[in-house]
Amino acid sequence: MECIFCKIVKKEVKSKIIYEDEDIIAFNDLNPQAPTHILIIPKKHIESIINCKEEDVEILGKLAYTAKKIAEKLNITDFRIVNNCGKKAGQSVFHIHYHFLAGRRMGWPPG
Ligand code: AMP
Repeated sequence: MECIFCKIVKKEVKSKIIYEDEDIIAFNDLNPQAPTHILIIPKKHIESIINCKEEDVEILGKLAYTAKKIAEKLNITDFRIVNNCGKKAGQSVFHIHYHFLAGRRMGWPPG
């Protein structure tokens, strides 16, 4: 079965898109863990950080830069970016994504 995030990229599955360019798309998480919870993903299917290749370095940097752009667009100064890599770390969708979380106080260490 095809990856759900690839379907979002192709607009076969609906999402609330917050940002999009030729390499990246960012959309609201279906099950928000904070008042603002956006997923930032590459359009290219890369399973996880552990599966990325050197050729992906630029796109990985772009994910972080997109977080900055989204923060500026939404007037957010404090936020957390989370990447779950692997099942035991909490990854459930195997297409790299950064969770962009904001709008509430964040605890540390994470659970
Ligand atoms: P992770 O558990 O780190 O792999 O995160 C996957 C995230 O994708 C979860 O927070 C889900 O709520 C979210 N998610 C799964 N399917 C969709 C979807 N169709 N649209 C938006 N978010 C989704």
